[in-house]
Amino acid sequence: MFTLLPFHIFFNYRKGKTPRRPPPKKPSNNQKDPVGVYCRVRPLGAEDGECCVEVISSTTIQLHAPDGLKANRNGEFKETQYSFKKVFGIKTTQCELFEDVAKPLADDLIHGKNGLLFTYGVTGSGKTYTMTGSPGQGGLLPRSLDMIFNSIGPFQAKRFVFKPDDKNGMEVQNQVDALLERQKRESQQSVPKTPSSRQRVDPEFADMINPDEACKADDVDEDSSYSVFVSYIEIYNNYIYDLLEEAPMDLIKPKPPQSKILREDQNHNMYVAGCTEVEVKSTEEAFEVFWRGQKKRRIANTQLNRESSRSHSVFIIKLAQAPLDADGDNVLQDKNQVNVSQLCLVDLAGSERTSRTRAEGSRLREAGNINQSLMTLRTCIEVLRENQMCGTNKMVPYRDSKVTHLFKNYFDGEGKVRMVVCVNPKTDDYEETMLVMRFAEMTQEVEVARPVDRPICGFAAGRRQRNQAFKEELSRRLEERGGPVDGEPPAALNQLLQSFPPLPASELSDPNDDHTIPRLIEALEKRHRIRQMVTEDYNKAANMLKSMLQDLDGNLMSKENFIQDQRGRLGEKDKMIQNQKNEIDRLEKKSKMLEYKIDILQKTTNIYEEDKRALQHELESRDHRLQREVSEKKRMEVRMHGLVTDEKLRWQKECERRVNAKELEMQNKLWVKDEKLKQLKAIVTESKTDSRPDQPQRPSREKDRVPAKRSASPSPVPAPVWPLPQALRPAPLSLSTSSMSVASCISEWEQRVPQTDRQGSPSPPHGRSRAQGPPSSLSRRRGRCWARDCEVPVQPADVGLEEVGYRTGPPVRPMHRRSHSAGAERWVDHKPSTNVELDTVMQPSVANAIKVSAPSEKALAKCDKYMLTHQEMASDGEIQTKLIKGEVFKTRGGGQSVQFTDIETLKQENPLGPSRKRTSSETGPNQEECKDGSWTDVET
Ligand code: ADP
Ligand code: MG
Repeated sequence: MFTLLPFHIFFNYRKGKTPRRPPPKKPSNNQKDPVGVYCRVRPLGAEDGECCVEVISSTTIQLHAPDGLKANRNGEFKETQYSFKKVFGIKTTQCELFEDVAKPLADDLIHGKNGLLFTYGVTGSGKTYTMTGSPGQGGLLPRSLDMIFNSIGPFQAKRFVFKPDDKNGMEVQNQVDALLERQKRESQQSVPKTPSSRQRVDPEFADMINPDEACKADDVDEDSSYSVFVSYIEIYNNYIYDLLEEAPMDLIKPKPPQSKILREDQNHNMYVAGCTEVEVKSTEEAFEVFWRGQKKRRIANTQLNRESSRSHSVFIIKLAQAPLDADGDNVLQDKNQVNVSQLCLVDLAGSERTSRTRAEGSRLREAGNINQSLMTLRTCIEVLRENQMCGTNKMVPYRDSKVTHLFKNYFDGEGKVRMVVCVNPKTDDYEETMLVMRFAEMTQEVEVARPVDRPICGFAAGRRQRNQAFKEELSRRLEERGGPVDGEPPAALNQLLQSFPPLPASELSDPNDDHTIPRLIEALEKRHRIRQMVTEDYNKAANMLKSMLQDLDGNLMSKENFIQDQRGRLGEKDKMIQNQKNEIDRLEKKSKMLEYKIDILQKTTNIYEEDKRALQHELESRDHRLQREVSEKKRMEVRMHGLVTDEKLRWQKECERRVNAKELEMQNKLWVKDEKLKQLKAIVTESKTDSRPDQPQRPSREKDRVPAKRSASPSPVPAPVWPLPQALRPAPLSLSTSSMSVASCISEWEQRVPQTDRQGSPSPPHGRSRAQGPPSSLSRRRGRCWARDCEVPVQPADVGLEEVGYRTGPPVRPMHRRSHSAGAERWVDHKPSTNVELDTVMQPSVANAIKVSAPSEKALAKCDKYMLTHQEMASDGEIQTKLIKGEVFKTRGGGQSVQFTDIETLKQENPLGPSRKRTSSETGPNQEECKDGSWTDVET
């Protein structure tokens, strides 16, 4: 009976008793999504010429290098393909694009999440068309606004309930303040009222969106109250200008607009300090504000001679939402419960290089800056990508430009980031487009933290609906109370009335009727008492119910808090799980890496082992060789040792034999002398006995002896065989054969000196021959020496014709020997001009000689003897003069030939060199001192 009414009353009077709970912490998030990059190709313009872009699939486009351009200039192929999340061809409508690209962002905004959407491309590629659109073909911006208002329209808070706090936060004003502000605004009438229909809007943007295409977000939280704020800024030359600032524009003498600065709020979000935020209540109003900004921008650009394609325009849609109070009637007066999300729509400046627009002067500087900001955007994306892909922690240079600094939250914090790359397919743009494509492809590799779901506030859901239902019911009841429709009392009232005692008849027929009125009074008093009782009952019941409900509410609240706690814990657990998953991923990656490394190391080890084996093999073979060589060497040593000992023995024997021979010879000499002495004695005694002067008799043996004649042909008698090397063998006549008697030997020796002296042959006359007086011991000795050596046939290697050996017969001379009488020989005296003049007594001088300094055939033809005086420096510093003598023969061919027969060696101290002091020890067996001191030795 009393069920419905008390509820309403209860809820109506429950204001201000909402249990508070601390604002939920933003749960941190580990999930990331890549930046969504979409590509839109606009249709070719009428005078755009050829097309260089082809959409080959829903995700890939292909660029064709125009013919004029070198295909492989940068190692690029003639065709390059680029893939994106989605590619939109020329026929794509604005609505289709919105569905895919901006709708999810608008949806996120409504659900309390941030989003960033920007268009990128060369000037004229359709960025502004994509973002703003044209009448009838509204772009992403009006469509987003439309969707937002379609979704939150009925749940919007009254104007000025939400109020920006100028620090990027949002406050909730109480009803009264909000009302006062509303009244103030209306009185000022500075802001036009929200148009009630699309028809009243500026025709420039009235038909941006076809009503059929209107869309709405799902699952809008109806228990929240919303408010939309928009701001519109322009970044030009790295300065931020507020396009919605109310400062009156002086059209005649424009003041340069004041630039704004960027600040960071307490949540580390970037915002433009002091930027106008206009609260808008409908798409039309929002778009009108946007249009106002556009107009202002256009005017400023014209007045300041700026190019709009060189500036970035940023339109920010901020959505404030706060839960309704428990009654579902008003916004909860709690700043902490206000959630602000924002969608940033950016129409970037043209990405082309400066040269393209042939900017000059200050324009160039602007262009430079703009390009610089796009370059910074590029660098930021690159660094982000590198950090994310390589796990590095390089600083991202957001602060280098205003645009990137403003975007910092999105890349560093959380939110959805989407980019539409616009492409004009004309060939003129080919190179620029290629750069755009590369940047766009790279951007896709950057990941941004996924925005988390907004925590649900602690109130029961469906408050708004209940409140509405209550209000409807109330108004219905009030209507009912307003009076019976057909004179009939409402049924409930009837019931209540029936529970009262019936009223007595109250008709007064008699003026003196004293009963009817007191009876009526009594009855009414009774009714009044009943009514009071009923009211009391009702109040009691209501209070009971109220307390019961309060208990229930309290229970519910604690349960909800509990659930919230559990949720928090669940979130933490989730976070932990996520962390662990990440850790596992990391470890897996690491283990894979290590496996790979192990693999490589294994391979390297194998290679090294193979190397080692090969080297060992080589070492072994070398060892082998070495051993072989060592053993060879040893064998050689042994052999050499044997040879040396053999040779030693042989020489010992030889020396002994020579000593014996010498001894024998000496004995023989002694014996001869003795014999002579005996003979002398005999003669003396004979003369004493026989005074006849007679010639001394020689022993018969001596007489019989054929005197050894000096002959060109030595005796064929075999020489005593001495085991001497060929060079050391004595001349055939130098020593007697074993068959000769010692006496004959001696006589031959005695005869020889005078004979040779007389004949003057074979040696030419020289200093010695001129020496007067009897032969001294020196000359004797020399003679002896000569006798031993002179017969050795000298055979110079280059002139000798036949081998002349003492054992062989005389040399067979095919040449004719020049006939000459003895003593009438003619000599060629060949003295090379390089010879040193020696001032010595013992000068070789030849009579009847033709002196030449170089051998000449003419001279040789006239002569039959040849002598070369050859000087050379001996090792001991002396000048060695060699007299090389020979006989001249006529050859069969008619030329001349010389056969050398003799070499005389003369040594003299170098007259040019330092004087030499000799010590006795230096005097060797062949270096006997000469009396004149000039010649140290003479050898023939
Ligand atoms: P941007 O902003 O990149 O410099 P705009 O958006 O101003 O380029 O586009 C240049 C011209 O091309 C405009 O006249 C626009 O109407 C037209 N245009 C761009 N994209 C399209 C498209 N997808 N369909 C039809 N016309 C387009
Ligand atoms: Mg543009």
